[in-house]
Formats: sequence, structure tokens, C-alpha cells
Amino acid sequence: MAAARAVVTGGAGFLGSHLCEKLLGEGIEVVCIDNLLTGNLANVEHLFGRPGFAFEKYDVTNHLHVPGRVDFVLHFASPASPIDYLLLPIQTLKVGSLGTHKALGLAKAKGARFLLASTSEVYGDPLVHPQPESYWGNVNPVGPRGVYDEAKRFAEAMTMAYHRFHNVDTRIVRIFNTYGPRMRAHDGRVVPAFICQALAGKPLTAFGDGSQTRSFCYVDDLIEGIVRLLFSEIADPVNIGNPAEMTVLQFAEEIRRLTGSSSPIVFKPLPEDDPKVRQPDITTAFTRLGWQPRVPLAQGLARTIEYFRTVAPCAPPV
Ligand code: NAD
Repeated sequence: MAAARAVVTGGAGFLGSHLCEKLLGEGIEVVCIDNLLTGNLANVEHLFGRPGFAFEKYDVTNHLHVPGRVDFVLHFASPASPIDYLLLPIQTLKVGSLGTHKALGLAKAKGARFLLASTSEVYGDPLVHPQPESYWGNVNPVGPRGVYDEAKRFAEAMTMAYHRFHNVDTRIVRIFNTYGPRMRAHDGRVVPAFICQALAGKPLTAFGDGSQTRSFCYVDDLIEGIVRLLFSEIADPVNIGNPAEMTVLQFAEEIRRLTGSSSPIVFKPLPEDDPKVRQPDITTAFTRLGWQPRVPLAQGLARTIEYFRTVAPCAPPV
């Protein structure tokens, strides 16, 4: 029997590239579609010679046609870091709405299973902590972050509409903060920011008083959870993330320890609508997928620091 074939939109991005690798490793052929808006060809260049891998530079907000068999459509295309979606608000709204519509259309046409990369940002600045999937969120639609949060909320609604109305077999993963190799040095996320500052011997800039919390999941754990969800029967959204919560300040101290840096920690004003707390309730993933994160923070951070030391040294921001 011919190998199964997956289309991964946003496949040249941080998460998409790890996903392409994982699917290939499972014996699934991969068509990676990306317009390189925030992604980087270098993330998938090592896959180019690999049998079963194809790359196409394309904007998925346009009509999406892929010749031949398609068994899975995994929709990961979207600017994802605050710096990106604040700079690219219209593209973010378009890829979450039009792009999701086109990707669902492809899945429907091919009879393929569809998986949407949604986000913990659908919970906004949460009034329930930790956040279970049943929580509807606290999002400011007209704040600067609304372009991302509302695009993903729309994408979830569109996915469920295709599921209910067109009987498309769908999955929704709500991804919480994830880190690891292939993040971009200056994407505005706290992990690469602190690592690059520490490696350069510069002060680590924490927002607010550093008491806001974050939960960080290592990329390999996340991808394992996503693949388990893909092969499950769960159409409702599932949180995948690491519930080990820490303050931004504690996190800065951990990075200083692991890089051996003596950089001071400095404070800057909290960005508008920055969530104060964020922690996944992963009961569903644990009970229904048998999934939980396994990579300890120190180990995941060591691999990420190594990436920024050797593979993609942090260049100064342009
Ligand atoms: P990323 O920016 O590294 O990857 C996104 C990719 O999508 C990029 O390669 C970009 O070029 C591509 N893209 C954007 N618009 C496109 C378009 N119109 N057509 C084709 N390609 C397009 O970001 P990431 O961190 O890898 O995030 C991937 C997905 O996971 C996103 O949908 C994001 O919302 C979701 N997510 C990520 C995190 C995280 O912690 N990294 C958390 C929650 C959700």
C-alpha cells in the first residue's frame, strides 16, 4: 500500500518543521507549504533530499490545490509570536480566516483528516486558572493582540462548522507556549530573548515586575502530543502544553544559571493585554491520549541554548 501523505501548511516555521520531520519519521509523505512570511527555508533544507518530502512556496490564503492523494491536512501557517502578529496584523487575520477556510476546503475535497494548530491565546487574559478546554476565554477583540486571538477563535469555529456541516474529520490542538531549536532569535518571545541576551552578556529584559507566569513546553513533547491527537478520535479542542508554571523572573534566573551568565535582570513596562497567568489543564491529553510532557526544563533549555550557540547564533536585531 502507498504511504499516507500529509500537507503541512506553515511547514517551514518553528513548529511546522519539527512536525514535518516527525511525520516523515512515521513513514508519512509530507508536502510542506509555506510562503516564508515568518518561516525560514533553512528549517527544512535538511529534508530536501529525503524521499517523500516536497516543499512549495505558496500563500495558503489563496485557493489551495494539491494534486494527488492527501490523507492529512495540518494547518500550522500563521505568524505566531507577538512581534510578528503586531507587525503583520492583516496577514495574521487572513491566514487564520481565509487560510483556515482554504485548508479545510482541501481536506474536504480530498476526504482528508484536518488538524488545526490553535493556541492558548484563545483563552485571552484568563479568569480561570489553570485553563481547561471548557473555558471560553477572556479576549479583547479590539486590543492589539485581538488580531491573533480572534483569528484563531474564528479558525476553531470554522473547523467545527466543517466538522458538523460537511462531516470533515477534524482535530483542534490548543498549543501553549512552546520552545526549542529553530525559534527565531528576535521573535519577541521570552525564551530566545533571554537566551540571546544572556549569551551576549547583555541585561535580561523582563516585562512588568517579572511576576507574571508562563508554562513552557519543549518542542519534542508538543509534537508527540499533536501526533497522538491526530491519530485519536477527539474532535473537540485539546490543550497540549506543560503545566509546570514559573514566573518570568524565575525563568530569567534559570537561563542565567544554564548559560553561566552574570547579566543583570532589568524591567520594562508590561505590553498591553499581556496575559498575567497562563497554565494548561492537560487532564484531557493525559486521560484520553496518555500524553504528558517528559523533557525537563533544564534539558530542553540546554538543547535550545546549544542551538543558539552553534547552529543559529543570535545576530543583532535588524
Ligand atoms: P512560525 O512563525 O515559526 O511558523 C509559522 C509559519 O507559517 C511560517 O513558516 C510562515 O512563513 C508560515 N505562514 C504564515 N502565513 C502564511 C501564509 N499565508 N501562507 C503560507 N505560509 C504562511 O510560528 P510557530 O511558532 O511555528 O507556529 C506555528 C503554528 O502554531 C501557528 O499557527 C501558531 O499560531 C501555533 N502556535 C504556536 C505556539 C508556539 O509556542 N510556538 C503557541 C501556540 C500556537
